[in-house]
Amino acid sequence: MGTESGWEKNIRKVTPYVAGEQPKGEGIIKLNTNECPYPPAPGVERALKEFEAGKLRLYPDMNAGKLADGLAEYYGVRPEQIFVGVGSDDVLALSFMTFFNGENPLLFPDITYSFYDVWADVFRIPWESCPLDSSFRIQKEDYLRPNGGIIIPNPNAPTGVLEPVCVLEEIVAANPDSVMIVDEAYVDFGGESMLPLVEKYENLLVVRTFSKSRSMAGMRIGFAIGNEKLIGYLKDVKFSFNSYTMNMPAIEAGAAAVRDDAYFKETVGKIIRTREWTKEQLSGLGFCFPDAKGNFLFVTHDKIPAEEIFQALKRAGIYVRYWKKPRIDNYLRITIGTDKQMEKLVEFLKNYIKERAND
Ligand SMILES: *Cc1c(COP(=O)(O)O)cnc(C)c1O
Repeated sequence: MGTESGWEKNIRKVTPYVAGEQPKGEGIIKLNTNECPYPPAPGVERALKEFEAGKLRLYPDMNAGKLADGLAEYYGVRPEQIFVGVGSDDVLALSFMTFFNGENPLLFPDITYSFYDVWADVFRIPWESCPLDSSFRIQKEDYLRPNGGIIIPNPNAPTGVLEPVCVLEEIVAANPDSVMIVDEAYVDFGGESMLPLVEKYENLLVVRTFSKSRSMAGMRIGFAIGNEKLIGYLKDVKFSFNSYTMNMPAIEAGAAAVRDDAYFKETVGKIIRTREWTKEQLSGLGFCFPDAKGNFLFVTHDKIPAEEIFQALKRAGIYVRYWKKPRIDNYLRITIGTDKQMEKLVEFLKNYIKERAND
């Protein structure tokens, strides 16, 4: 705080989002930002190698047509129903700016992706969080009241809890006067999507990312699917802000990833198998967690504080995520890595718990 200079009075002040660490170094096991441990589809590397730098003198297609068309075909919707952005964070931020302009509060769960309240604050959107119940489930009734919009991730982050589509449908059906966004960053890992419902509800926007299930966090690709009118409004705001955000190599690489469905399914299948194995192992070590449907587990131990385990893992070069926040300060979020990485994690925890008991 301290004294504020004159020029500081008119500044937009925000508390920024804090991302997980990106540690560098040999042998580090990085399970803290829900990245995929496998490389992207082989076609992605080919597309990048074959890209001719000479093309860069021109501006890219501001609709990212090649990628949007590929996604439209893959998901069985019209290209006009697709909006592509620089990571789903870009798509979500623009959606907040476009859709949440009412006076009533935007609603989202109290335990959720910690970017939502940051965007709401930066865009001056009034918001209220709705408490999850003790098993981290949403309480439907919280969303059946006047509001300026709704955003819910499904599966939720960082809990991994998946809500049935019928519950979310009831919420969107009861709110024809506001836009509801379902953030499906993790739905590919075994969740049921709201996508079929975008034809039925004009006010439903489904947001997806290439960062998790398509192993392309570094490329920055996200997209939204919704009614054409809704997508049109989103494009109007984007084109009033910065039209050419998707660069040419990203459009090519993204389109190549979508074409290789076999690789995509295989990678997601591996993560799911490793996740189920890790669940069994951690249960055996005294950890509890809600049934996780993303590429991560949200775990708490019956005897050892989460913060202690977090520090011990870090000293061993295993990075997981810990938040010192109300309700979740005894939990760790652990990204599912390769089998070998998870075996090392389990081995370390087994020894740590044993040695601690002997002390
Ligand atoms: C990772 C994540 C995102 C953002 O993904 P990017 O496409 O990398 O910007 C959005 N929502 C949730 C819930 C996430 O976990």
